[in-house]
Amino acid sequence: MTTCTQENPWETFTSMVCKEISKIEYTNWIKPIDFHSFDAGVLTLIVPNVFVQNYLLENYFQTLSTLLGCSEKKELPIHFMVQETTRQKTKPLTPKKENEKKKKTLLLHDVSLNDLYCFDTFIEGPSNQFIKSAAYGVALKPGKTYNPLFIHGGVGLGKTHLLHSIGHLIHSKRKRTKLECITTESFINDLVYHLRNKSVDKMKRHYRSLDVLLVDDIQFLQNRLNFEEEFCNMFETLINESKQIVITSDKPPGELNLSERMIARMEWGIVGHVGIPDLETRVAILQHKAEQKGLEISADTAFYIAEHIYKNVRQLEGALNRLGAYCRLMDKKPTIDLVDDILGDFFQSPISSRISVERILMSVASMYQVRESDIRGSSRQKEITLARQVAMYLCRDLLSDSLAKIAGYFGGKTHSTLLHACKKITILHEKDETLRRQIALIRQNIES
Ligand code: ADP
Ligand code: MG
Repeated sequence: MTTCTQENPWETFTSMVCKEISKIEYTNWIKPIDFHSFDAGVLTLIVPNVFVQNYLLENYFQTLSTLLGCSEKKELPIHFMVQETTRQKTKPLTPKKENEKKKKTLLLHDVSLNDLYCFDTFIEGPSNQFIKSAAYGVALKPGKTYNPLFIHGGVGLGKTHLLHSIGHLIHSKRKRTKLECITTESFINDLVYHLRNKSVDKMKRHYRSLDVLLVDDIQFLQNRLNFEEEFCNMFETLINESKQIVITSDKPPGELNLSERMIARMEWGIVGHVGIPDLETRVAILQHKAEQKGLEISADTAFYIAEHIYKNVRQLEGALNRLGAYCRLMDKKPTIDLVDDILGDFFQSPISSRISVERILMSVASMYQVRESDIRGSSRQKEITLARQVAMYLCRDLLSDSLAKIAGYFGGKTHSTLLHACKKITILHEKDETLRRQIALIRQNIES
């Protein structure tokens, strides 16, 4: 294994990684990290938050360990300083930087479209065919077919990719269309900024003058009542004027903790789901991504990776990035043996095939010290109700059974009882640290 002999291994790393990943990914995850020092073999980095730190470790552990010349299993000689706490001590913001920060906030509402996210690079399969066709239809005739288009699905399954694809296609066909692609977070920031500057009317005029509004990750509007109302008003104005709206979310409208009015509006048009791609589609995605990155990968190797990483396309891509970086650094070919060595920790055991409703009930019962039969029964005792709702939530999340089938596991409860339980636990999960910990422990137990 080679040891990095340069003064600044972070520079080597960033220059390598920026060629491997998309511009957006680089801007969101790598660029915010500042190099602090490299002293006595320890690399000190300043990160804006722990999410960025975790992203780096989850996706580039191997590459960094190679660069820093340490063995794979050992802890990396990296010291992280979180910016919030180090800002004053280590990097006082100069007036210039503050100005830059302001400028960023002002520009936040406009997310540029990622060049790599277009329909041509979106690989179709049974899990996404319907929603891709709907998205394509919307892009060909914005405001005239399905309005709004609501795309929901799990993390890393291509929602943002589809959203940006719509933007690109509309732009290419109708240059004059006033289109904006925003994240829900940037909408909120924008609103905060304009509220502070007493210029909300200006902001309203701006949004209401658009022909097409693409909104990413609407789930971030949950529990933000005032923002939700403002968003809902803008939404209605645009829809009433046949302006196209496309929304992405990690859950279907009915499961979001938003007002009934907002949910009803989002269900006005068409709601479609992006699912986990099947094996063939994952292989095709891998091969396509490898080609984009100039990495030669045999069908066998692609198949092997796709078989072991199946829940999330972003992880599949992360694995490919790591493999590409390693092969380039070490001048090796991506064989199956190498994949085993390098990507082992990415591999997901086929948990879902081992998980059964019995296992879920057993783990939940033992966490809440109640009987499995009580969970299946209809007692309304507080502890038992909570255990039942958590069990329903986990069954929904971990089993691929239909809602009706899951409801059947609980003594034939109705479909709406099940949905109500899932919604309630989803909301509590966000707010309640204790519940979050309990659910994490139950999951660990189920998956172990
Ligand atoms: P989400 O918004 O659902 O979390 P993204 O749209 O950001 O996911 O997708 C994550 C990564 O996976 C992106 O790099 C995207 O290009 C890729 N991806 C997901 N699905 C597909 C697909 N069907 N074809 C090609 N690439 C895909
Ligand atoms: Mg996304």
